[in-house]
Amino acid sequence: MSDCIFCKIISKDIPTDLLYEDDVCVIFPDIKPIAKTHLLIISKKHIPTIADMEDGDEKIVGHMVKQAKEIAKEKGLTGYKLQFNVGKDGGQEVFHIHLHLISNQG
Ligand code: 5GP
Ligand code: ZN
Repeated sequence: MSDCIFCKIISKDIPTDLLYEDDVCVIFPDIKPIAKTHLLIISKKHIPTIADMEDGDEKIVGHMVKQAKEIAKEKGLTGYKLQFNVGKDGGQEVFHIHLHLISNQG
C-alpha cells in the first residue's frame, strides 16, 4: 500500500537497516526501542492487522514467529517476549502486521 510506512521500508523507499530479509518477511530494529533489544518482524504482504488474516496467512505468521526465534538464537537471547498489538484498542499504531521481539538481553 502506497501510504503504509512498513510497505515503504519493504520497497526500500525508506532506507532502514535490515537485519534479515527473505521472500516472506523482513526484520529491523524498532525506531523507539522499549528494551535493550527491540526488533520488528514484518510480513512482506500488507495485512493490516492479525484480525484481517485470511486463509493461508497462517503460513506467513508462522514463518514470522520462526524467524523471530532464529534471530533471537543468533543474538544469544535466552529470554524474550513476542507480541502482536492488534487494532487501535490493542495499542497498534502501524496497520501492517508486525511482531515485536523484546528482550532485556542483547
Ligand atoms: P505498534 O504500536 O503498531 O504495534 O508498533 C509500531 C512500532 O513501529 C512502534 O514500536 C514504533 O516505534 C515502530 N515504528 C514506527 N515507525 C517506524 C519506522 O519508520 N522505523 C522503525 N524502525 N520503526 C518504526
Ligand atoms: Zn503495508
